[in-house]
Amino acid sequence: MDLSTLFSANVLLLSIFAISFLSMSFRVTPHGHWRSWALANAVLAAALVCFAFSRQLPIPAAYLVPNTLMLLAFGFHWHAARQLAHLPSKISGVIAPTIAYLLVASIAFQFSNYALAYTASNVIFTVLCITTIWAFASKSFEGLISAVGLILAFVFIAAEGVLRTAYGLITDGPIGPGMLSDTIQDVHLLCMLLFVSMTGAFSLAISFEQIAQRHKEAARRDPLTGTFNRREFQSRLDELLHTTPKDNFGLVHFDLDYFKRVNDQFGHVAGDQALVKICSSVKTHLRQDDCFARLGGEEFAVLLPDISRENAFKVADRLRERISDLRFDFAPDNFQITASAGIYHGDGSQLASTDLQHTVDKGLYQSKHDGRNRVTFAEPQANSA
Ligand code: GH3
Ligand code: MG
Ligand code: MG
Repeated sequence: MDLSTLFSANVLLLSIFAISFLSMSFRVTPHGHWRSWALANAVLAAALVCFAFSRQLPIPAAYLVPNTLMLLAFGFHWHAARQLAHLPSKISGVIAPTIAYLLVASIAFQFSNYALAYTASNVIFTVLCITTIWAFASKSFEGLISAVGLILAFVFIAAEGVLRTAYGLITDGPIGPGMLSDTIQDVHLLCMLLFVSMTGAFSLAISFEQIAQRHKEAARRDPLTGTFNRREFQSRLDELLHTTPKDNFGLVHFDLDYFKRVNDQFGHVAGDQALVKICSSVKTHLRQDDCFARLGGEEFAVLLPDISRENAFKVADRLRERISDLRFDFAPDNFQITASAGIYHGDGSQLASTDLQHTVDKGLYQSKHDGRNRVTFAEPQANSA
């Protein structure tokens, strides 16, 4: 392909992505990363236009201007990746590599050391790509396929940066108009076209993948307490009942005692605060694989996979004790909220989840009946087995 076609294709694609990202920034929140991507694409388009017309520019502008814009564009890519990953990022981080390059290049030009200027731009470029890869490899993007696409795009362009650095070191560092042969420029522009297409497509994809992941997470959480909700709990319980071989597990249902009185005495907001505090305390006393969920109102369930009968009871009773030990800002120090619980232990074989729920509820009502603030074991009814 001839150079002007490749330049035009790159600039056209970059402009389309810049406009798309900018319009997305007005429609989808948070908008920070959309704007950074829009700027990255727009500035890179400007850099390529300058490269295309570098023969018309005087030295050192022919070299400094396009390279400065290119580093600025990759600075915005780095910034966008960090914004999307919720990692700390400042606009100074976008500009710093460009300023560093301008300083080194100005000194290099003073001493007519073109190799140094060329190498500096490529080293800074490669470092920017690597730090962007680092951001896309962060925990925030775990499980997102498009993050892999973006990492590949930046690995690819960083590898090109490494080759350019080596080329600059081996040769004397090309400089100014006509600095690179048409064949080398052809390869650079083809690589850039691939990079621009990949980053454009995968940037759009990762944003929507992230939004979908957020919605999916919200759908399994209780909005007030942040614990799992009934839907998630049910699916974990069903999964446990359908896996083979079966391990013993514990199922606990908790109901707070006389919770209506908390609302009546201190108000609904205080009641909500109490629910939040109780849930965060319970969560800290459970293992990673345990599932704690708010079934509704002031009723909770805990699923304890792969646990002995004795330990299941110990966990349930410890949770009961921790709840009764909690102190609340809205109430005097001697004020206590207690919980009653029912517990089932077994491998659940030949039991439907409704049978299990009836069983633990039986234990729970027994605890209420026996004076509350206690945990009671319940066995499945003979006809459910
Ligand atoms: P018991 O010991 O028999 O369980 O008594 P109780 O008062 O806890 O039982 P009841 O089922 O009569 O009342 C439950 C109360 O929990 C009623 C409701 O006001 C309160 N409640 C349920 N959900 C929420 C909530 O999200 N926020 C607040 N503040 N209160 C809630
Ligand atoms: Mg209740
Ligand atoms: Mg209650």
